[in-house]
Amino acid sequence: MYNKELKNFEYISKEVGLPIEYTQGGGGNTSVKLNDELMAVKASGYKLKQITSEEGYVVVNYKNILDYYMQVDISQEKDYEKESAEMVKANIVEVEGLKKLRPSVEAGFHSLLKKYVIHTHPVYANLVCCAHNGKELMDEIFSNEDFGVVWIPYIDPGFSLTLRIKEALEKYEKETEQGKKVQVILMENHGLIATTDDPKECVALHEKANELIKEHFGIKELYPQMQLSKVEENKYASRTEYLIDYFKSHKIDNEFFDRIVLYPDQLVYLNGSLSVDGMDNKLNINSQTGEIVYLTTESEVQTMEESMLAYVYIIDQMEKLGLSPKSMKQTEINFITNWEGEKYRKSLVKNLEK
Ligand SMILES: [Zn+2]
Repeated sequence: MYNKELKNFEYISKEVGLPIEYTQGGGGNTSVKLNDELMAVKASGYKLKQITSEEGYVVVNYKNILDYYMQVDISQEKDYEKESAEMVKANIVEVEGLKKLRPSVEAGFHSLLKKYVIHTHPVYANLVCCAHNGKELMDEIFSNEDFGVVWIPYIDPGFSLTLRIKEALEKYEKETEQGKKVQVILMENHGLIATTDDPKECVALHEKANELIKEHFGIKELYPQMQLSKVEENKYASRTEYLIDYFKSHKIDNEFFDRIVLYPDQLVYLNGSLSVDGMDNKLNINSQTGEIVYLTTESEVQTMEESMLAYVYIIDQMEKLGLSPKSMKQTEINFITNWEGEKYRKSLVKNLEK
């Protein structure tokens, strides 16, 4: 059943899940609405590129999730984060032959959007999303497009983010001329959402949003190549020239990732794992030579290297382009570090397949 939709779902997931400039590690998520009630959404801890029509996703009743967000009364003293997470869990639909997994922590906002939803953490979109004047840049870059674009200021993921997106969509549609619907969403310190009713259009729209940003900034060169080599079991060396050159020519210390926190995935995959001029952590960097050595599983190395390349690329490009990076605030960081959903995702990193 729903073969065509699930094949399309696999297609959109691979298109945006394979390029490491769009998706790093287990970041990002996609979904497809199968009918008026059911939605297939990426499973937490899975990589986008691992989604096939048979695995890597969970089916939920998105109609009920949508109803919850339409009716929720936030004037009460309760733990809405917990309540909404339980509500999503209660709306998982068991499908024969499908592994029992947890839906993405971002399943909430997928319920509000069109048939196909692509959400990624692209380095290009994040040049805008992680800049102090991101909203102005967005208005400038997308002003001539015929699709609606909205900006979501940073807010804790999960319940709060879903509600904020719902409000932003309602506001946009009320204030804008008939017929123009939101198809692109830029989330501050987070990433990009593209949504349409057609899978090819959805992929093209995601691509276009990134291309418009690249054009605006005059980025013509290809995204840096990433290369890892195995030294021995659970020991890998990075051969990624871009990173080695960066660390050789910039002062780096143990607080490198702590000074500017660009988005939650950086916290999940990188912060707390760095040792500069030591060999006592998962990620060890020599500040003189730029040499990078990982001491962990192959799958975690892959995720960390992709995440570090994206982070360094954004920081480096922003510096070259004269953009000012906006860091997440300490309270926002604390929310992520203590969030049950992210702890679960982090615990899966080690076991992810390549
Ligand atoms: Zn995300």
